[in-house]
Amino acid sequence: MNNFRKRDDFLPYALPTIGQQEIDEVVDTLKSGWISKGPKTDKLEKKFCEFIGCKNAIALNSCTAGLHLALLSAGIGSGDEVITSTLTFASSANTIIHTGARPVLVDVDPLTGNMDPNKLEEKITDRTKAIVPVHYAGQACDMDDIMYIAKRHNLFVSEDAAHALYTTYRGKNIGTIGNTTSFSFYATKNITTGEGGMLVTDDDELAERARVMSLHGMSRNAWNRYSDTGSWYYEVEYPGYKYNMTDIQASLGLHQLDRLEEFQKRRELYARMYNDAFGDMDAIEVPYVKNYGRHAWHLYVIRINEDSLNIDRNAFIEELKARNIGVSVHFIPIHLHPYYRDRYGYKAGDFPVAEDIYRRIISLPLYPKMTQEDVCYVIDAVRDIAEKYGKRA
Ligand SMILES: *Cc1c(COP(=O)(O)O)cnc(C)c1O
Repeated sequence: MNNFRKRDDFLPYALPTIGQQEIDEVVDTLKSGWISKGPKTDKLEKKFCEFIGCKNAIALNSCTAGLHLALLSAGIGSGDEVITSTLTFASSANTIIHTGARPVLVDVDPLTGNMDPNKLEEKITDRTKAIVPVHYAGQACDMDDIMYIAKRHNLFVSEDAAHALYTTYRGKNIGTIGNTTSFSFYATKNITTGEGGMLVTDDDELAERARVMSLHGMSRNAWNRYSDTGSWYYEVEYPGYKYNMTDIQASLGLHQLDRLEEFQKRRELYARMYNDAFGDMDAIEVPYVKNYGRHAWHLYVIRINEDSLNIDRNAFIEELKARNIGVSVHFIPIHLHPYYRDRYGYKAGDFPVAEDIYRRIISLPLYPKMTQEDVCYVIDAVRDIAEKYGKRA
């Protein structure tokens, strides 16, 4: 019955898919003379606007830069409070701190891992200025509820869409709902520029402020120096940042964006294969999918059912590693990290839903470069472990 065979090579948790088009475009850029922010970055911004259906897109060196600039451009700073989910990556909270504001954490929905709108309102004080919803794993937050609460309390909404490129919510693309949305093109994300990100907004004035701040706070005519019409003159309006994307990165992005639909089809196929295989196993809970839009399937996160296994999550991960499979955990809740715990007084027990999720989750490999055989191998390995360590009823 148990005929599992360990593969010889290691299957990484994530890998980018880079084709000849991307390589040729980078070489073309290197030979062109414009290797920093220039015409290809402009082209990517325009293409991204068309893809999302938004008015402004600002290409940056990370999603983190987008999250930071979004809050700064909205005028958020010292004395303010900004609410985000505790089940997220550090940068969602760090960028709040970088503005001088205080990160206020909220627990998540037990099914989706997204910010729980029912627990959001009780976190709002007269200092609250913004909400940073995180679309966990590539599934949209309950944006109707979040936008309703934001409007009632006059709060700015800066979406962390690092996982949510191509995600939809009730017929709308993520990137067209909140005041701003930040996407990530980090190496493991659904499309990549190595490092990179995109801040999008329909607010022209906010976009202009973010643009100026992304390049030292120099005024618009100045950052346009690469063009023939540019001049030597510039004015600094703000002590800004060095957050711009380069044309080398944009060269990758142009072709990655073209391939997003192809990538998405693979992700959907592999997620379906996992769902079908794990759906009837007692030891494994598959991701809960709401029926209100497209899931970008950035992550495939299973939950271990502790009642039907003799091993815990950490041991389960070791067993996968022993079978040459790389996995990850998304995320260690923000409030459990020493910095936020010590500075803001958070402690274990503060957000029980996120903690219960954290204790049981494993992100399995899911990326277009995997083959169907790789997916079947992961399935066999999970089954093998569940059989070996399953509690007999
Ligand atoms: C990856 C990630 C980020 C940061 O993206 P960068 O482009 O690396 O700055 C932010 N939030 C979440 C939820 C992420 O997963």
